[in-house]
Amino acid sequence: MARDIAARFRIAPGKRAHLGRRDPADIAAFPDRGDTEAQTARDSAEIDRLQDRLYAERRRALLVVLQGIDTAGKDGTIRSVFKETSPLGVQVAAFGRPSDEELAHDFLWRIHRACPARGFIGLFNRSHYEDVLVGRVRTLAPKTEIEARYGQINAFEKMLTENGTTILKFMLHISKAEQRERLQARLDEPKSRWKFNPGDLEDRKLWDRYSAAYELMLYKCSTAWAPWYVIPADRKWARNAAVAAIVRETLEDMNPQYPKPNWKAGDFKVG
Ligand code: ADP
Repeated sequence: MARDIAARFRIAPGKRAHLGRRDPADIAAFPDRGDTEAQTARDSAEIDRLQDRLYAERRRALLVVLQGIDTAGKDGTIRSVFKETSPLGVQVAAFGRPSDEELAHDFLWRIHRACPARGFIGLFNRSHYEDVLVGRVRTLAPKTEIEARYGQINAFEKMLTENGTTILKFMLHISKAEQRERLQARLDEPKSRWKFNPGDLEDRKLWDRYSAAYELMLYKCSTAWAPWYVIPADRKWARNAAVAAIVRETLEDMNPQYPKPNWKAGDFKVG
């Protein structure tokens, strides 16, 4: 089942994602909401167990990258999928506008320092991909520099995987109509008002340009070693289910092992 989900949403290397043909409200993989939510809860609990083994093993890491337009649900996905996971083994990084110090370095500098250490799951809320998304849409660097970044990202991610980090990249795909609802809710609901940022309305006006930038990013940077998954995200429960299933399956494939001690229980006596 989980394998089908991963195959359904994975972008094959060198293939176009055709975002316009993908329905953000697609729930065909999850026919029953109640069953799906129960499965997500089981997946989250299993992710915690696997994470415990990863932490004990201390040889490899998992990096989960979350991208999506404002309100796509990056925070909500992290909260839902990893709510059972021990904070001891998780490192979360959120990437906003770069600081002066960060801008004085290459664009991957701040990313590399935030990558998970061996034994950890790293969660990126936004990432180096902003540098080919907002960077491209708002021309934050010369065009030739931005064009060069796709290859630089692929090489960087390859280096990470060769050094023991498995990488999963999720694009949370919502419709323009759903974003309208969610932005309006931020204006209407007192407990959500703090999330409202007038700048989000400016980005909404650039919807088509962002979509084109996402399309290009998916085309150029879904690789055999670091695949992109486009997750239909209009239905939060279906979005959470897809991400949880793929994270669980990936950790199962990694199959981390508790280290074998070089002593026997009989060697020691607890006084
Ligand atoms: P969020 O909107 O995810 O809650 P913030 O408002 O703190 O978080 O920061 C997100 C903003 O930072 C977004 O507008 C995003 O486009 C911008 N940002 C992130 N990375 C970069 C980058 N490398 N260059 C320019 N802007 C960036």
